[in-house]
Amino acid sequence: MKDMNRRKLLQTATAMTAGAVAGCALPVVADNRPRTPFEVAQITIPIVGSDLAFPVRRIYCIGRNYAAHAREMGSDPTREPPFFFQKPTDAIQNVAPGTTADHPYPSLTKNYHYEIELVAALNKGGRDIPVARALEHVFGYTIGLDMTRRDLQRAMGDQKKPWEIGKSFDRSAPLGPIHPAASIGHFTKGSIWLKVNGQIKQNANLEQMIWSVAEQISKLSEANELFPGDIIYSGTPENVGPVVKGDLMEGHIDGLPNLSVKVV
Ligand code: MN
Repeated sequence: MKDMNRRKLLQTATAMTAGAVAGCALPVVADNRPRTPFEVAQITIPIVGSDLAFPVRRIYCIGRNYAAHAREMGSDPTREPPFFFQKPTDAIQNVAPGTTADHPYPSLTKNYHYEIELVAALNKGGRDIPVARALEHVFGYTIGLDMTRRDLQRAMGDQKKPWEIGKSFDRSAPLGPIHPAASIGHFTKGSIWLKVNGQIKQNANLEQMIWSVAEQISKLSEANELFPGDIIYSGTPENVGPVVKGDLMEGHIDGLPNLSVKVV
C-alpha cells in the first residue's frame, strides 16, 4: 500500500514536470527540450564521406590574421592580439565540390569583397583550452569565403560603430563540405589562393597565419566557452578586393577541393 502511494506520487510528479498541469511550466518533451509553436531550422554543413551533417552552433571569424593583410587594412600586425567577430549561422551557403554556386550580390553595398579562408569545425568544447590540446577539439576543415560589404565595414569603423552590417549578413559565408581531420589531418601549411575570372587575386601560404588554428581555439576559449558545432574562419591573406555581378570566384587550399562561387 505504501509502495502504491509512492508510485502514484512519482507519476504525478512526472506529469507535472511534463507540463500536464495548466499554468505550470512549459510543456516538455521526453528529452527535456521545451516544445515550440514553430520550428527553426538547424543550420548544417555536409560532412564528406558521411550521411551525417555537421550542425552549426556559432560562426567565429578571426580578424587580420595574416601580416600583409593586417597592413593593407591599416593596422600593425606585430602589436595586435587576435580579435574575433561572429556571423549568424544562417549566413552559411553550402557549396558542393564540382559545382558552381550562384551567390546573389547583397543589398546596400557598392564595394563587395572576397576573403578566402581556412575554416575549422569543432566537435568538442571547453574553456581556457591549452594550445597543445586545442587540435583535439577540431572535427574537420573546409574552405570558405568571408564575404564582406567593405564600404559598410569601413564606414561603421570610421564612426566607431559595430562592423556587423559589413560582415554578418545573409549568405555572407559560402563554404564547402567538412572534411574530417581523422581522414585528412590538420592544416598548418599549404597553398591558399583565390582566382576571380581565372586571374589570381589572393595567393599565400597557411603557414603565414599570425595565429595558428590551435592558437585561435585557445585564445577564443578564453573569451567564450566553446561548444561542439562552433566553426572558426581562420582569417584571409592579403590582396582582398571587389567582385561584381557575373564574376566567378574560385578558391583553393592544398588538400581540399576547390570552392567555386559565381556572383549573380
Ligand atoms: Mn575574414
